[in-house]
Amino acid sequence: MKNLEDLFEHQLQDLYSAETQIIAALPEMEKKASNAKLKKAFKEHLEETKGQQERLKKACDKLGVNPKGEKCKAIEGIINEAKDFISEGADKEVMDAGLIANAQRVEHYEIAGYGTAFHYAKMLGHAEIAELLQATLEEEKDADEKLNDLAIEKINEAAL
Ligand code: FE
Ligand code: ZN
Ligand code: FE
Ligand code: FE
Repeated sequence: MKNLEDLFEHQLQDLYSAETQIIAALPEMEKKASNAKLKKAFKEHLEETKGQQERLKKACDKLGVNPKGEKCKAIEGIINEAKDFISEGADKEVMDAGLIANAQRVEHYEIAGYGTAFHYAKMLGHAEIAELLQATLEEEKDADEKLNDLAIEKINEAAL
């Protein structure tokens, strides 16, 4: 890698890998959730995430880059932690709280990644790609906020 453009492409591939892994993991999170609102939140974010993956594909197509060039090991690690937690067999209220704890780690990682990529896109003059990245960034922030609200309103207390 020689410049910010190369680094940007690398970051897009990392995000593409992250979204691909998240799409594979969310159905299990939805299945293990008991709280109806939490189940719905996972289901809705799965659909959103498919759109996010599409946006990254679009961005890579514009740049002539193969989106599949990287493996995001950080998301792999966060998802493995979630799987380990699920396999420990918590009571359902505790399971819900733990699923949120894991999911928010995912959202925060994504917020960091998309925030960086968005600013690179702007600096590099890729205005349309910047818009795509900003749209996803907003969805990730909303997803995080929704999980926060669910935890604070009810789910953490139910696990108490
Ligand atoms: Fe995402
Ligand atoms: Zn790399
Ligand atoms: Fe990564
Ligand atoms: Fe997300």
